[in-house]
Amino acid sequence: MKKNEIYCLKIEDLSQSGEGIGKVDGYVLFVKDTVIGDLVRVKVMKTGKSYGFAKLIEIIEPSKDRVEPLCGVSKSCGGCQLQAMNYEEQLRFKEKKVRDNLERIGKLTGFKMHPIIGMENPMYYRNKAQFPVGTDKAGNTVIGFYAGRTHTIIESEHCILGKPVNEQILEVIKDFISKYNISPYDEKSNSGLLRHILIRVGEKTKEIMVCLIINGHKLEHAQKLVEKLLEIPNMTSISLNVNTTKNNVILGNEIINLYGNGYITDYIGDVKFQISPLSFFQVNPKQTERLYSKVLEYAQLTGNEVVWDMYCGIGTISLFLAKSAKEVYGVEIVLPAILDARVNASINGFENVEFIVGKAEDIATQLCKEDKLPDVVVVDPPRKGCDEKLLNTIIENAPKRIVYVSCDPATLARDLCYLSDNGYELKQVQPVDMFGHTVHVETVVLMSKV
Ligand code: SAH
Repeated sequence: MKKNEIYCLKIEDLSQSGEGIGKVDGYVLFVKDTVIGDLVRVKVMKTGKSYGFAKLIEIIEPSKDRVEPLCGVSKSCGGCQLQAMNYEEQLRFKEKKVRDNLERIGKLTGFKMHPIIGMENPMYYRNKAQFPVGTDKAGNTVIGFYAGRTHTIIESEHCILGKPVNEQILEVIKDFISKYNISPYDEKSNSGLLRHILIRVGEKTKEIMVCLIINGHKLEHAQKLVEKLLEIPNMTSISLNVNTTKNNVILGNEIINLYGNGYITDYIGDVKFQISPLSFFQVNPKQTERLYSKVLEYAQLTGNEVVWDMYCGIGTISLFLAKSAKEVYGVEIVLPAILDARVNASINGFENVEFIVGKAEDIATQLCKEDKLPDVVVVDPPRKGCDEKLLNTIIENAPKRIVYVSCDPATLARDLCYLSDNGYELKQVQPVDMFGHTVHVETVVLMSKV
């Protein structure tokens, strides 16, 4: 097979990143912008030993699951890899991805796999939006999103995953920019003022936070902007974030408060959280609540258990479980997240939760030395999965149950395989769709001591 050759093929699967996969005489081709079931004509762009990449030229026969993307810029944006697939099919794809990984990589059998928990409405679910600000070729200020993996900003104020109020907020900011000649940031020269706009909306409280990330320490006429933003109902926190460094990181460390207490509040279940511009918080709180309810169910707490919540972030799972446990230890490597977690424990009045900063694999050993041995361990690691040292410490201490929350089915399968070789049995598997229209899938599983 050579570059520029044209082939017809049927898309049979999707890659982890959402590209269609088809075969020509057994040779695998990845084709962007296709859906399982599409019959397509493609042009070969790049070939390797065992697979290649091709560009879609024509859809000869669309898949029965193909739909018109809801968003006009879904292709150039790349944030929603599955928008051309109907939602039921997206869910089937994610469920299959979890099962395939567990069976193929994990060599696991005999577990109960529950149907994926989908969203009632896979739109407007994100509580957080970050819009880059820049200049287009004609010299106009643009607010939108980065095209694909580039840093070209495409003008677009409505994203179907974000809250509708985002558009209203951006309108106000755009008026302010043009009225007071606020300069957009230029990445190449590290000049210009306004870099990003961060918006967060409380799912239950409806409270709104707006934070302007600026390349400087002052925004002239900021009070005029505050006045206009306050005309939007539920505007709760308005601030500036200072980021004068030339890098890809969106937020700097310094916050200049313009209005409010510096945070909004929201709830997951009946646990209250204070969310500042710098806090990590789950982006889909509705599905998060469903996910954590499964964690609680699988943990089977009676009130007498010592629980470890490893990779705890701002302590959301720890606090969700606290009222049903004797003691909870939350462990996380990022200090600001731990500080947030402690504040959240205190505003909810929990005294049986302790948050510790450090590597999960190291703190686990320390907890054992202090005789804080777990009855139930919850882990929610980043994509790369759990450190083997942590798994070994868990295995040695033989908690009755391990509840594993995972955002990557492949590393989940690897870790479950290890645990199942060392005295644990996979009982329940529950995929949850937290990020509709994207390829991501979250899974919660229960393993029990044999
Ligand atoms: N359980 C949390 C967050 C999970 S995300 C929630 O539900 O919101 C995974 C977290 O693991 C991140 O906060 C990351 O900072 C943290 N992390 C990454 N490596 C770690 C390690 N070796 N030890 C402890 N925490 C780690």
